[in-house]
Amino acid sequence: MSSQIFITGGSLIDGTGADARAATDVLVEPDRIVAVGKAAAGLADADAAVIDASGKTVMPGLIDSHVHCTFDDVASNDELFFHRDPTLAAFATAKNLQKMLLAGVTSIMDPDTLFEMGPSIRDAVNAGLIAGPRISTGVQALVTSVGGTAGKLIPDEGIVGYARVVNTRDEMITWTRRHIKTGADWIKIHATGSIPTSPGELPVWSEDEMRTVCNTAHELGVPVAAHCRNTESIVWAARAGVDLILHASFMDDAGLEAVLANGSAICPTFTFLANLADFGERVGASPGMESVFRGEIEATGKMMRKAYDAGVPMLCGSESGFALTPYGHWHGREMEVFVDALGLTPLEAISCATKNNALAMRAEGDLGTVEEGRFADLLVIDGDPLADIRILNDRSRMHAVISRGVQIDLEQPWPEWSPLKGAKVSAWAAKSLTHDIAYNEPI
Ligand SMILES: [Zn+2]
Repeated sequence: MSSQIFITGGSLIDGTGADARAATDVLVEPDRIVAVGKAAAGLADADAAVIDASGKTVMPGLIDSHVHCTFDDVASNDELFFHRDPTLAAFATAKNLQKMLLAGVTSIMDPDTLFEMGPSIRDAVNAGLIAGPRISTGVQALVTSVGGTAGKLIPDEGIVGYARVVNTRDEMITWTRRHIKTGADWIKIHATGSIPTSPGELPVWSEDEMRTVCNTAHELGVPVAAHCRNTESIVWAARAGVDLILHASFMDDAGLEAVLANGSAICPTFTFLANLADFGERVGASPGMESVFRGEIEATGKMMRKAYDAGVPMLCGSESGFALTPYGHWHGREMEVFVDALGLTPLEAISCATKNNALAMRAEGDLGTVEEGRFADLLVIDGDPLADIRILNDRSRMHAVISRGVQIDLEQPWPEWSPLKGAKVSAWAAKSLTHDIAYNEPI
């Protein structure tokens, strides 16, 4: 029996940035794309599975360059750091990976994972033990003793949640090497963090400390990603040799110059902020902060446009894994923000989430475009994302998802389960029961 899939008559967005091509056939086999265009019909087996894509759009599977696949839609650091169990977290991750596949995400990059489990999860998917997108993964985020954004929840040494504390240059070298020994595709540095006496995030790694990690990782052929939500941290990270800058918030011209000189890529990850700004109120998050988040997107968006025009590889990531960015719901949202805040065309935004994102998968030339010889990860979409980019967030528009040349069963039930024992933090009350509330306020 043929293992080919013959996708006929669809409008093809191939991810390279080329205009859509009407009625273009695509022939795939596990694991590669065999032919695109006129040649496909001649090479198709008589009993190949056929997907009629007429009136629909064929495009590369989505790649999400910033996902936290082990966080299970977490609502607080407290929950993530102190209320999770490694075995249950692994089972939940397996189900959450399935959600992403059902949403058309065929590859993810995850920079830091709970219980250092990233490489094991990736290996389980590669072995076919669990279903999921292709995974490029870090182990944990390296943080200095200042911590990251979790304040004093980060201990003075050791690990908690997604973080590994490194206090000395020797520890930076040691843990970079140990993460690589564990199977890291990426090393992650938490370059900025917050302290109680200053607003926003400050650099909590020196340029030289970051260079130590970059040199150690690069000597072993492993790239480095850094969380940078502060202006000068971007300059320092780029000069230190960081390959992928996450967020790049408040980047200035000096930052852009350093990024260009070093050849760093940027994954701004606006989705979390955009969801807070547009829908935070609906889920009781950060009331009154909407305009602050909107302002950060606008300010950073302008610089990201400048960086895009200057040739900086711009990647799309959703930061899925938090209550504000649950798996399977928002993987297309970053493209929408790229269109709205950076002024990219939908076609350009799609190339960011496909061809450009192959960089995060360390699979440039293999992934992210629909061309002969590439990995067979494709979507057939009901509708035209060039007319409305938002349909890529809408699971009901997924007509077919092909991962590694095999069609995913989209009729399978959406994974759901009862609350895991002890995994969610519950409050005794939403506010304090004062005498006034008890006796003087109307209910
Ligand atoms: Zn993140």
